[in-house]
Amino acid sequence: MKLLLLTSLLFFAAQLMAKPLVVTTIRPMTMLVKAVAGDSVEIRQLLPDSEVPHHYSLRIADRALIAQADLLLWVGPEMEGFLSKSVTALRPEKVITAAELPDIQWLSPTPSSEGQADKSDPHIWMNPNNGRVIATEVSNWLAAHYPQQREQVLTAQQLFNQQLSVTNDKTAAQLKTLQQVNFIVDHDAFGHFAEAFDLHQSGALKANTGLSSGARDFHQLLSQSDVSCIIAEPRHNHGRVEQLANNLHAKTVVIDPLGADIPLSDKAYIQLIEGIGNKLTVCLSNTSERATLNHSPGE
Ligand SMILES: [Zn+2]
Repeated sequence: MKLLLLTSLLFFAAQLMAKPLVVTTIRPMTMLVKAVAGDSVEIRQLLPDSEVPHHYSLRIADRALIAQADLLLWVGPEMEGFLSKSVTALRPEKVITAAELPDIQWLSPTPSSEGQADKSDPHIWMNPNNGRVIATEVSNWLAAHYPQQREQVLTAQQLFNQQLSVTNDKTAAQLKTLQQVNFIVDHDAFGHFAEAFDLHQSGALKANTGLSSGARDFHQLLSQSDVSCIIAEPRHNHGRVEQLANNLHAKTVVIDPLGADIPLSDKAYIQLIEGIGNKLTVCLSNTSERATLNHSPGE
């Protein structure tokens, strides 16, 4: 009897000490959880940072992890289509679908979106305003489900909002005089960043689903004049970026929209936004030096 009591006490103690398990899909989602939850939750990210989210498929271990999650944070079916089926099997209150949050800011209407916001680009975290919306949702969710962490999480969220707004203003000031400068991207992941800071992207080599554009579109890009900068990405082959840069006499820069090179901390998301802003500022600015890209294998 005594032993049973002791065992159950130990069991409850372990339950109290176990941190909530938050499962995320890609690094920017991990960064946003980290920003508000710090070490008060255990975060497990499904995709290795080396993977392109558009072409991933779940492993058996991923499915087991998803089943154990107290909370699953993903962007949504447009970004992580491989997850759609698994998410429908989870209780809805255990899932935050970032793309479905009502305050998410989408791209300005295009002719094909008929006056409605353009929801075709799922790289929503590239707009710091959306980062704030997602982090707020995560902190509210944690505060509601783990009252003992409520104060800590809400304080962290406030601090994050303040720091993000400082970085946002600094980045906007830096880019202000560069808003009319044309740039082309390899993979179309920078639309939300361009929207947030009123920048002018004049084309993309790959659609926002990661698929390459055809020869005709490439020809259209080659015929552009006044392109100052072309953004390449790690995980993508740089061949066509170099070809385009040579033809257009444009500078190139490698920017990772997933921020895989940024150490994980509660500041990581802010550093991601700041880093993109800094690199773009250099690339769009009117200086003569042109960097050469390092080749990376495969697509
Ligand atoms: Zn992408």
